Amino acid sequence: MDVVAGPRWEAFEEACRQVVAHLKAEIPFACWSVTLFDDDHQVHLWLDDDFYGLRRGHAQPLSETFCQYMVAGLAPQLAPDAMSVPRYAAAAEAAGMSIGAYAGVPIRDDDGELFGTLCGFDPEVRGEDLLRHGPLLRLMAGLLGRTEHVERRQNEAVVAVDELRWSAMHDPVTGLASRSVFLDALADRAARADAVGPQPALVLLSAGALRRVNAAHGEAVGDRLLSVVAQRLSEVLHPFDTVSRLAGEEFAILVHDAAALAATAACVDDALRAPVDLGGTAVPLAPVAGVALLDGADRDELLARARRARDGPARTGRVGGWIVLDPASSPGVAELRAALRSGSVDAAFQPIVRMSDGRLVAHEALARWTHDGVAVAPDVFVPLAAGAGLMAELTDRMLDQAAAQVAAWSRELGHRRLKVGVNVAPGLLLDPGFPDRVAERIRRYGLAPRQLVLEITEDALLDDLPRARAGADRLCALDVILCLDDVGSGYSSLLHLRHLPFEVVKVDRAFVDDIDSDPDARRFLAAVLTCGRDLGLRVVAEGVERAGQLDVLRSLGVDLVQGHHIGRPVRPDEVPRLFGRA
Ligand code: C2E
Ligand code: CA
Ligand code: CA
Repeated sequence: MDVVAGPRWEAFEEACRQVVAHLKAEIPFACWSVTLFDDDHQVHLWLDDDFYGLRRGHAQPLSETFCQYMVAGLAPQLAPDAMSVPRYAAAAEAAGMSIGAYAGVPIRDDDGELFGTLCGFDPEVRGEDLLRHGPLLRLMAGLLGRTEHVERRQNEAVVAVDELRWSAMHDPVTGLASRSVFLDALADRAARADAVGPQPALVLLSAGALRRVNAAHGEAVGDRLLSVVAQRLSEVLHPFDTVSRLAGEEFAILVHDAAALAATAACVDDALRAPVDLGGTAVPLAPVAGVALLDGADRDELLARARRARDGPARTGRVGGWIVLDPASSPGVAELRAALRSGSVDAAFQPIVRMSDGRLVAHEALARWTHDGVAVAPDVFVPLAAGAGLMAELTDRMLDQAAAQVAAWSRELGHRRLKVGVNVAPGLLLDPGFPDRVAERIRRYGLAPRQLVLEITEDALLDDLPRARAGADRLCALDVILCLDDVGSGYSSLLHLRHLPFEVVKVDRAFVDDIDSDPDARRFLAAVLTCGRDLGLRVVAEGVERAGQLDVLRSLGVDLVQGHHIGRPVRPDEVPRLFGRA
């Protein structure tokens, strides 16, 4: 501890000053001093004057000091005639000075730990009445010990709080700004898109080596790789740029000025070109980056866009090696936005039936967009909508169509048992307004809440599980049914199933495809089903194209089915008459 200079030792310093001044008034020695033991040295912390040529901070080997004897005995020493005590005479001689009187008391902290002395010297020999000052010296030393103790505790608390604050704000692996600090900064900056000054850009960069390294050398070595990448990024980025590690080997950079993107991309590419040396193994990096420009879209939207730019097929321009997804210039976005606003994106409905009695149970609403007389596939325009921040609009539009349609069918049927499924992008679980919009549709169209099934795909749910969970809970509280879509297509399904309140799972087409010809496919599906049932979930199989698949599904106990074999998605006016079927 730096007691001499540290600003944090103000109380102790002040106590030293006061104690020394008080002693000087009571016992007018030429020199009073508070000293500290620093290993085998005695350091003078506070000096009343420099009569003996001592300075603040002056350090002396313990073996040459007067105080060593007092310290050894742990008792105050008062020597009115110091040179008559042989050991003091020897010490004075060694130090090349002559002392008349000496007084010293050990200073201990509250734990009894010895840490210094309070001592005084005078060239004059004193009378025996010096001895009566023993209690005063002891009292003063006790006061210093106390003050030091209290202040040390305070300092330790300050350090602990500082450390806590540091670790809350930093990634423990790389020392970069923590994920939450970065996400907050991004949200904040995204909300001020029209602020004066340069337009920032979000870069999501994947280092492209972690999985290999973790698999071959273990996670500790993987962590070293990450900190090297972090270090290299920090070294080349502009001081106004912010960098963080969001997850795994995904680094996020908020480039303060999009105009500097090309230069930044070149520097970063350069910095990551050399392989990383991990204890003798040179690991090459294969970085890929996607960029989203801050243009008024919110944080989650920007993250989704940059991720899509990085992972998807390149849709728009490149800056250096970085792919920039600029929604404004993406072909089709303007047209898609116009189509959504004019109501020309609408729903096709595909039946879901119960095999045991052949009854129609539900329809899935699937978005359809015809542009310039050409049908654009959902696999094209749904990602386009996501990239342009139009998911909420698309979903609201589908909710309207689905709710209106199922309300009309319910009136025709005279009951409210027929359900309708609407696809909901997982990002909407994080949209705090979404549950209210769902509730509003239920009210407006007079639905029973359980007529509405929200089909949520599992990808990306992982991103912010606690918030996704909160959103899902609010939807659950409306009594709508939550269905996990495309189950089996990602390894994370189990995790989501455990954490989110799904009632139904829809097994992806890929796991239904070959079940009538491939015993392995059948076994795999059986395993997925067992898992679903263990978790108490109802199972729907989709993509049923042949009667042979139906037989296998029946033998495996799957009752709810959907697919071309049962019925293709069609516009409402082409849906076969429902009476007798639902
Ligand atoms: P999904 O939710 O898995 O929808 C099922 C897809 O499988 C639909 O494709 C449907 O037409 C197709 N399908 C149904 N039965 C069969 C079959 O027997 N064989 C084959 N080969 N295909 C079948 P679609 O309509 O092209 O939609 C593709 C994807 O686009 C959907 O997959 C969904 O992820 C997304 N999507 C469609 N509409 C919406 C929407 O309104 N909102 C959101 N967020 N996503 C949507
Ligand atoms: Ca679906
Ligand atoms: Ca599906």
